[in-house]
Amino acid sequence: MNLAVFAFERQVQSYLRADVIVIGGGPAGTAAAISAARCGKRVVLLEKSAQLGGMGTLANVSVFMPVGNVTGIYREIVSEMLSEYLPPDHDRSISPQYSPFLLRQYLNEKMKKEQVQVFFHCEFVGVIREGRRIKAVVASTREGLKAFEGERFIDCTGDARVAIDAGVPSHSGREEDGLTQPMTLMFTMQNTGKKVVPLLPEGCYPYEKESDLPQGRRLYWEQNNDGTLLVNMSRVKANGAKIEDVNYAEAEALKQVFSIAHYLQKTGFETYAISHIAPQTGVRETNQIQGLYTLSEQDVVNGARFPDVVAQTNYEIDIHSPDASKTTDERKVDGYDIPYRCMVPEEIDNLLVAGRSISATHVAMSSMRVQATCFALGQAAGAAAAISLDESNAMNEISINKLHAVLELQGVKFIGR
Ligand SMILES: Cc1cc2nc3c(=O)[nH]c(=O)nc-3n(C[C@H](O)[C@H](O)[C@H](O)COP(=O)(O)OP(=O)(O)OC[C@H]3O[C@@H](n4cnc5c(N)ncnc54)[C@H](O)[C@@H]3O)c2cc1C
Repeated sequence: MNLAVFAFERQVQSYLRADVIVIGGGPAGTAAAISAARCGKRVVLLEKSAQLGGMGTLANVSVFMPVGNVTGIYREIVSEMLSEYLPPDHDRSISPQYSPFLLRQYLNEKMKKEQVQVFFHCEFVGVIREGRRIKAVVASTREGLKAFEGERFIDCTGDARVAIDAGVPSHSGREEDGLTQPMTLMFTMQNTGKKVVPLLPEGCYPYEKESDLPQGRRLYWEQNNDGTLLVNMSRVKANGAKIEDVNYAEAEALKQVFSIAHYLQKTGFETYAISHIAPQTGVRETNQIQGLYTLSEQDVVNGARFPDVVAQTNYEIDIHSPDASKTTDERKVDGYDIPYRCMVPEEIDNLLVAGRSISATHVAMSSMRVQATCFALGQAAGAAAAISLDESNAMNEISINKLHAVLELQGVKFIGR
């Protein structure tokens, strides 16, 4: 079928102008916005959904995976929201569970305190670019298309949506075949205290044994000793940035959720009923930009150290099988640095990309993708955007010493420095 290509031209009214525009309100975006605001900049955060927290709330992830050190804005969030989890020694690795509903509320209040202007239901649709600079981003809002003008832009969409639209090269998934990690619809079950009738709605799968399950294993967390079970057991082969894949995944993952719950109700959780299903199927991996440096498997495995370090992690290599077979490649790592250059695209002077879509190979991103690391990257991106404004420099020309000094003032500590 030969489909037409249309030229789409519109006059778009500017809605506001800010120093720093952050697009996407997940871990990276919220930290980027806070960090830039603390440097005295006027910051606007555009989020396409109705909530902040990204996959951490939208996909009910509900667990902060350990990264080896807990510093900066991530430490602050854990200590303010979950004070009982913070060990006196910040260097200790922790993996607290949290309520996604509480995180959502907490982040709303936090943004107010930090004077970040958040706009919900604002979905980025395109950039207005002039030469090597982005002048504005256009978002679809409840009042139609509006432009948001800025001096610096930070793409925290997780999909590198802004960067790709601005012409930054990107790749997706495994180097050999482009397959990304599968999608998962998280859900919770609640102990009702009495036997429930296992429910298997039309279209669902009658799993009989553990090997029938989508991951071939049980994967859940008993939360807070209050009878809540957080279940991470569905698995759908799909790239969360592709129209057809997402359509398939949303329906398939829901079928799996009911099927898994039915299986659990017959095998140890006879008194549990589904209490909540995440608003959207979680996306682990979509697009990676090509930045000034690409984090590699060797960097992760060999514990690479970089002079322009902006985040550190020792989270394992953790690859849920991209072809949706029942395996997960899990390999412990000792710890490594992520350099600033992974967030800097070559083509644009006033854009950074923070969070899971930084410049990294498929294997390297499987380790850096967890929330704490994304908070750290976002925090560094926010500070870097502010510095580049103060210095009137392009994002790839800022002083790394200055960046480290600002991050230190913001409570970031790098192990080994
Ligand atoms: C099923 C699953 C389980 C996981 N388990 C864990 C775990 O146990 N522990 C852990 O720490 N991590 C876990 N992760 C990984 C972690 O949640 C993500 O990698 C992390 O949230 C990425 O942060 P981010 O800010 O880069 O992107 P995201 O969290 O994806 O946030 C991106 C934000 O941008 C918004 N956005 C996207 N496009 C646009 C647009 N066009 N305009 C405006 N806004 C836009 C989105 O709505 C979202 O709010 C898991 C992920 C999944 C999917």
